[in-house]
Amino acid sequence: MIKFGPSGSCERFAAEGYSHTIQEAKWLADLGLDCFEYSFGRGVRITEKTARGIGEEFKRYNVEFSVHAPYFINLATLEEEKAANNHEYIFSSLRALRWFGGKRCVFHPGSPLKAARDDAMKLLLERLELVMRLKHEYGFDDLWLCAETMGKKSQLGDLEEVISMCKDYDTLLPCIDFGHLNARDCGIIKGYDDYKRIVDRLADGLGDFKTKNMHVHFSKIQYTAKGELRHLTFEDEKYGPDYEPLLRLIADYKLEPYIACESSGTQTMDALAMKNYYKSL
Ligand SMILES: [Zn+2]
Repeated sequence: MIKFGPSGSCERFAAEGYSHTIQEAKWLADLGLDCFEYSFGRGVRITEKTARGIGEEFKRYNVEFSVHAPYFINLATLEEEKAANNHEYIFSSLRALRWFGGKRCVFHPGSPLKAARDDAMKLLLERLELVMRLKHEYGFDDLWLCAETMGKKSQLGDLEEVISMCKDYDTLLPCIDFGHLNARDCGIIKGYDDYKRIVDRLADGLGDFKTKNMHVHFSKIQYTAKGELRHLTFEDEKYGPDYEPLLRLIADYKLEPYIACESSGTQTMDALAMKNYYKSL
């Protein structure tokens, strides 16, 4: 089933006097939304008891929970000590995801920093192989890792790179951030045909199952020549991309992605706008 929801708590949630993630479950269900993405941002700091309590509440209201692993994961790092830390960030995220009762953990693949891009990508794929082997050994085969397309040209994670990361592993899904893809190439998504080209390439590279069940991040994003600058709201009319043609394509192709809206501050209402438009089709 296709799902729509926000990434993180929005400004309106706070304005209505709420402050705890556990309160999101009923709040989102009452609005008619389906999912919520919780970001670990700077580190995984949650106790098992708290996470299980939140998970139970989300289960009660039938709102799916996903997590975003800490942002500083870099599977292409040249420093072995940092490479070991990546495992800690990824597996502590998966452990918490299990407590929350969720299925999907998004991560940012990495950046070459001073290395040549091809070398960095090769190193990243080797590290990913180890991560996926450990994921199996640690008993996380029932959870998805989702490799995200990134918004800056300097970062690893254009569409082709994410396809090559995901293609060899059953439990590694693409997280297609259409705002990032648009921003990193300075506004390439103008309409339906541009979305179609991306989704067709994804299906060609990863097959129908991973395309149908892909993870999606969506927001309008301001960019410069180097790519992503900052997340915007659906009020923006300059940078895009527009969500309507994407949702028409999703309906035409009968895709069932998990869509987390990442608008800046208005993510819940913008997720609802997406869901309402989709329902109108
Ligand atoms: Zn992300």
